[in-house]
Amino acid sequence: MRLCTQTFGGNGARAKLGYTSARKMAGSKLKLLVLLWAAGGGCSAANAPVPPPASPSSTSNERPTDSDVAALEPQIDWEAYDSTSLRNPNDGALRAGVPLPLRAPGIRFNPARDPRARYGTVEVVRALVQAGARVDRELGGLPVTVNDLSYEQGGPLPRHRSHQNGRDVDVFFYQLGPDGKPIESVGAFFDPEGAGVDFRDLADPSDDVPLTIDIPRTWLFLQALIEDERALLQHIYVAEHLRALLLEYAEVQDVPAATRARFEDMTCQPAYPHDDHFHFRFFCTPDDIEEGCRDSAPMYPWHLKRLLEAGVEPRPLTRARPEARAKIVTHEEARSTAGPMDAEVERWLDRRAQWIEKPHPGRPYCP
Ligand SMILES: [Zn+2]
Repeated sequence: MRLCTQTFGGNGARAKLGYTSARKMAGSKLKLLVLLWAAGGGCSAANAPVPPPASPSSTSNERPTDSDVAALEPQIDWEAYDSTSLRNPNDGALRAGVPLPLRAPGIRFNPARDPRARYGTVEVVRALVQAGARVDRELGGLPVTVNDLSYEQGGPLPRHRSHQNGRDVDVFFYQLGPDGKPIESVGAFFDPEGAGVDFRDLADPSDDVPLTIDIPRTWLFLQALIEDERALLQHIYVAEHLRALLLEYAEVQDVPAATRARFEDMTCQPAYPHDDHFHFRFFCTPDDIEEGCRDSAPMYPWHLKRLLEAGVEPRPLTRARPEARAKIVTHEEARSTAGPMDAEVERWLDRRAQWIEKPHPGRPYCP
C-alpha cells in the first residue's frame, strides 16, 4: 500500500496484476497514495506526469542473467562529471546535475516516476549506484528502487519541501514477498515486526499481498552509503521502529562499530514517520561549499573534522525565498480524496497511528 505518494503508479502491483487490473485499481489507490504522505510534508511527486509502465524485463522476479547485467552495466566515468549543489536543500539549484541510470546492476529508478526528477550531484548518484551494486554482488535479489532526487537544474519539485539541489533522495526498502523471496519494492508501510501489505486496490481485500521488510539487504545498502567517505551522507529519515530493527540486525552482524555509531547518529524519525521509504540527505562537498552550497543541521563532530581538514568552514543556510516553496498537499486534503477502502486497510491505518507521532528519543542529533 502506498500511503506516501512515493509509490505513485506503483511498480510491483502493476507488474503482477497486468495492465487491466492496474487500471481497475488506479482510481482508489492513486487517490490514497497521497494520503498521510502529506502529513509531514515529506517527499513525493504525485503531480508529476506518470511515464509509461515498466518494460516487461523489469517486472520479473528472476534475477537478470550475467549477460543481462553486462548489457546494463553503466559505463560511467564518474571523474568526467563536475556537478555543483547550490544553496539550501529547500531553496536551491543544481549545476551540471548527473542522472541516476534508469537501471543498473542492483538499482533502478522507479519506472512509475517522472524521470526528469532523477538528477543529483555526482557524489550522490555514484554512491547510490555503488551501494546498489554492492548489495547485488553480495546478496543478489532484485534492484533497489529509487524515487525522486532533483530536477536536472534543481529548484522546487512538486510535493517536496527539499530535493532542490541534488542532495536529497527517496529510496524504498528492500522487500520480501509471501514466499520469503525478494519482490519488487512498493511503497508499503511496515510495522514494528517488519510486516507490511501491498494493498493494491484499497477497496478489494482479495488482492492484498503480505510483505516483509528485507532487513539484511536494506542494512547492507545503508552500510555501503554510510561507509562511502566520498558520499558524505548526512541524514537518514526512517521510522523509529524500523531504525530499531536495522540496528538490532547490525549489532549481531560483523559490522564495524564506527559504522553502527554513525547509523545511530544519522537516523531520525521526523514529523512524517518514513515507514515506507528512506529519505537520504547528503552534505555539501567542500568544493560546493565554496560555490555557495549550504548545509542544514545537524553538523556532526566527525563531519566538522572533515571540513577542517579540507580547509573549509560550514556556512549557515540562506533564508529560503518564498518563490522557492513547492506546493505541499496537506494531510486533510489528501485524506478527503482517498476514496473507499476495505476493513483491512482501515485496520492497518489504525495500527499505524501507534507509530506515526514523532518520537523524542533524546539522542543528540535527533531533536
Ligand atoms: Zn524525500
